Amino acid sequence: MKVPYIMTPGPTEVSENVRFARSRRCTNPDLDIEFYEFYKETCNKIGKFFSTKNEVRILGGEGILGLEAACASLTEKGDRVLVIDNGIFGEGFADFIKLYGGEVVFFKGNRKKQIDIKALSAFLEKDSNFKYATVVHCDTPSGVLNDIGKICPMLKAKGILTVVDSVAAMGGETLRVDDWNIDIVIGASQKCISAPPGLTILSMSNDAIECMEKRKSPIASFYCNLLVWKDYYKDKWFPYTPPVSDIVGLREAIENILKDTGIVDRHHKIAVSTRNAVREAGLNLYTEDGYSNTVTVIEIPDGIEDKNLRSFMKDNYNVMIAGSFGYLEGKVLRIGHMGENAYPDKVSYTLHSLQKSLEHFGFICKCDMSSCFLNNL
Ligand SMILES: *Cc1c(COP(=O)(O)O)cnc(C)c1O
Repeated sequence: MKVPYIMTPGPTEVSENVRFARSRRCTNPDLDIEFYEFYKETCNKIGKFFSTKNEVRILGGEGILGLEAACASLTEKGDRVLVIDNGIFGEGFADFIKLYGGEVVFFKGNRKKQIDIKALSAFLEKDSNFKYATVVHCDTPSGVLNDIGKICPMLKAKGILTVVDSVAAMGGETLRVDDWNIDIVIGASQKCISAPPGLTILSMSNDAIECMEKRKSPIASFYCNLLVWKDYYKDKWFPYTPPVSDIVGLREAIENILKDTGIVDRHHKIAVSTRNAVREAGLNLYTEDGYSNTVTVIEIPDGIEDKNLRSFMKDNYNVMIAGSFGYLEGKVLRIGHMGENAYPDKVSYTLHSLQKSLEHFGFICKCDMSSCFLNNL
């Protein structure tokens, strides 16, 4: 199998030291006491990455597991939950909440813009009787970035617990869990962290844990029960055998990030230059504000078939970018400049191959996107 450059908004390229780490000999993680130390130290490093002192967990399952686990662990039958929705992942939280018997109330935003803080504040003045609220940091299918640094403290001030999906943002955007009062933040291995898919990482506040402990009904899941892990370190017991190689790789990836002190700045510069190049070429960006550092979402010019364009790019330039799904299927292209992808050489080659492919299908760019990108950096 010939693997293309995966310039998608996750999974992303995996760095060499992470790949090597994953090939090390494995211990028995249930019986080897040292592995409990390794797991705990890795959680501490993730806490540093999130700027939190809260409890951190690494769950064996892709990011969706974390979203479902947060909803499963917090929701009891009849609980009112506020779903802040301006995108596909934002709306998707509702499905998990309903599965566990919660009553969903939507706060719907414009899907081309970030959540309007004033409108949300006005909404909360009228109704703030919610057990918790969900919000997505970067809603990847459209690329909209929400200002969770403002949204979460505002919810918390109303006594509402906050659950944030930062899967596609953390590492490329500032994330300050304790300063911003985020009760549960969820991430995954395969976006900016640049490890292969397979793990969820999350942190949970004392308020979130207390809320789970005070439930009247048991959590209706074992795999999604965030309390099951409570005494793993003291008891030297994991609820299921941890995927050792995934965790060893994740540890290396997290250490890469902690050493990369300018990481958010690098993502920001790459994103700004990408957007400039795209605009100067005469293409349209999908969103109107709330631009993210991790993904650029571009409208497909009229008359071009998304799938044909992307296959041409892959076949002729060995570059894979993404389309989108749901209401955006066939309408936009997405370049993921996250983690290991967020380097000038990779992004400039991606823009070059996008340009050649667009021109093959008859769309003539008004500038040389690759040079424009590099000159803007
Ligand atoms: C990638 C992603 C997830 C994880 O979901 P998959 O589609 O299974 O990779 C969750 N939330 C957001 C915002 C994501 O971008």
